[in-house]
Amino acid sequence: MKDERLQRPNVVARRFALIGAKTTCWSCRGVTDVTTIMVGERLEMSPWDDDIDATYESRNEPAVLKSIVFLDVDAAEVVASNAPRLRWSFSTTAGERYLGNRCGQCDALQGDWYLHKPEGPFFPLSQTAAKDLTIAWVERELSAIATAVESTWLDWMLSRSE
Ligand SMILES: [Zn+2]
Repeated sequence: MKDERLQRPNVVARRFALIGAKTTCWSCRGVTDVTTIMVGERLEMSPWDDDIDATYESRNEPAVLKSIVFLDVDAAEVVASNAPRLRWSFSTTAGERYLGNRCGQCDALQGDWYLHKPEGPFFPLSQTAAKDLTIAWVERELSAIATAVESTWLDWMLSRSE
């Protein structure tokens, strides 16, 4: 197990999508908007691979980016203007600072672990559960240090957007 993350982007994509959902805040019980970033065609390597010779591999299956600890300036600007609740946040659970969703009412961090767990807002297990999710493509490049998670429900989102 490596304990140092790579210092260069491990996910590079020509475009990305913002996926929106609503969740009930664990702290104030209010309903708030949450956003996650999806990529399709991309170059990717393990975020934990500290081998200087590690190389990117080309991947096509859609994936959401969890535990984003770095995002390039251009993509970060798009996120800041379209999903202002997504902010750099320190998670004591995760033990690191990442781009996390904050409650619109009380500002509490809605942790990636919770949002991306099965049946969570960003892991619907049926098309019915996914029907209220929104998707908006952004025609801007993205490079990030994050964990890319591929999942079946993203194919549903893709078929809806193309
Ligand atoms: Zn709240």
